[in-house]
Order: sequence, then C-alpha cells, then structure tokens
Amino acid sequence: METIAERLKSVQITLEQSTLDAHRPSNAVKLLAVSKTKPVSDIVHAYEAGQRLFGENYVQEGVEKIQMLQSLDDIEWYFIGPLQSNKTRLVAENFDWVQAIDRLKIAQRLNDQITPNKILNVCIQVNIDDDKNKAGIGVNELNDFAKAISELPNLRLRGLMTIPKAAQSQAEQTASFAHMAALYDNLKKQYPSVDTLSMGMSGDMQNAINNGSTMVRIGTAIFGRRN
Ligand SMILES: *Cc1c(COP(=O)(O)O)cnc(C)c1O
Repeated sequence: METIAERLKSVQITLEQSTLDAHRPSNAVKLLAVSKTKPVSDIVHAYEAGQRLFGENYVQEGVEKIQMLQSLDDIEWYFIGPLQSNKTRLVAENFDWVQAIDRLKIAQRLNDQITPNKILNVCIQVNIDDDKNKAGIGVNELNDFAKAISELPNLRLRGLMTIPKAAQSQAEQTASFAHMAALYDNLKKQYPSVDTLSMGMSGDMQNAINNGSTMVRIGTAIFGRRN
C-alpha cells in the first residue's frame, strides 16, 4: 500500500503536469488537502511531507484537530463544509478560511464573532449547475452577494468555490468550470482582494486546472477512501 507521502507526491505531480499542459505559471494552483474523517496522524504525515493547507468539513472534528495540532503553527486551516449559524463562533475563532459562504446571515455572524484583530478569508460558493442537491448561490445573485460580503470589515473576500454536478459529461463539466472562470475574472476586476478560484477534487482536478482553477481540494487521492 502506498503511504500518504507517496500519494501526496503523485497528486503534486498531476497538479504540476496539468498546470504545465494548460500553459499556466507553475505556481498558479494551490493544493488543499481535505482531511475530513481522517485521523490527526494522517495530517501529521502529510505535514511532514511538506503539505501546509488543510480542509475540514465538520466543525467539531475540525476544531479538535486544530487544537491538537496547535504546535504546527504554519498550517492554514480551511473550513469547506456547510455551516449552521449555531457553529459560526467556533469556525470564526479557529479557522483561517471559510470556503463555502452562501448565506449573508452566516457571513455576518462570522464577521461579528471573530477574534479581535483577526481576518477571516472567505470564498463564495456558487451553485454553477443550478443543482437542487448542491449548496451555493445562483449565478444571478453573485454580484449583489459579493458586494454585501465585501462590506463586512472582518472578512476578506478571496474568491469563489464550486462543486459541479456529479455525473456530467466531460463537455458539460468543462462548460461549468469555464463559466466559473468567467465569473471569477469578472469578480477579480471589481475586488482587488480576490485571488482564489477553488474548484477541482480528486476526480476532476485536471479539467478544473485546465479551466482556470487556482486551488484544488483533494481528499481521497491523498488520504485514501473515506468510510
Ligand atoms: C470531501 C470534499 C472534497 C474532497 O473530495 P475528494 O473527492 O475526496 O478529493 C473537496 N471539496 C469538498 C467541499 C469536500 O466536501
């Protein structure tokens, strides 16, 4: 069986090759290691192999891991799951980023509950395929929503994230990613803080990178299948 360090290495090679194939600068795409449901020891193995950005989906589990790994203080922690209003304080106090903002009320609570002098980086989740099973705001709401988020002083609007519809054809998926890239380019022109287009997971990272992703969120390909 491959070790986490070996799997991480092969994900990095795929990332670098896809970036090169897309004629993009070699540092254009960041790797977020999604460690949800996996033990702290797995995170330490990835950390020892050089990984620094980690994503978690569940508040309680994520906060426990952050607190256990406090000594690894150059880790950047991303909350990437759905967030309910009664859990916003824990997220605001413990995480560096929240990637799946799609309700103003949640953003306002994060803004109000954050530790003094801390800034929380946020991405807006876009439901690019209008998928009933997916969270995220609709494309038509994006401009107004981004404006409202950008006015919250303790949040920094960094960009967009998406999870495309499952089981699309390659062509449909490409169209979804390209649509996201166009929305992202447009947002970047309006807000100088915007520098992140978070799209691509273990199964579709190459296509996402080819269509302008600046951050892929990879779980299974690094840590193995989840139970
Ligand atoms: C679990 C998860 C991932 C990682 O998915 P893999 O297919 O295991 O790479 C990425 N993004 C989000 C939002 C997730 O919930």
